Amino acid sequence: MPIYEYFCEGCKKEVTRTMSISEHDKGNATCPECGGRSLRPLVGTFFSQTSRKS
Ligand SMILES: [Zn+2]
Repeated sequence: MPIYEYFCEGCKKEVTRTMSISEHDKGNATCPECGGRSLRPLVGTFFSQTSRKS
């Protein structure tokens, strides 16, 4: 299963979740630390880091 990275507004830190794509598509991600739903995806950050390799 793919790993998704989020920033949790409740914990104020980055968390990772392993979810199936269908779970992710439902937008049901919850924080593994606090169980909250205030998660911001960090996918954009991840890709911008890898594309800087020039
Ligand atoms: Zn949290």
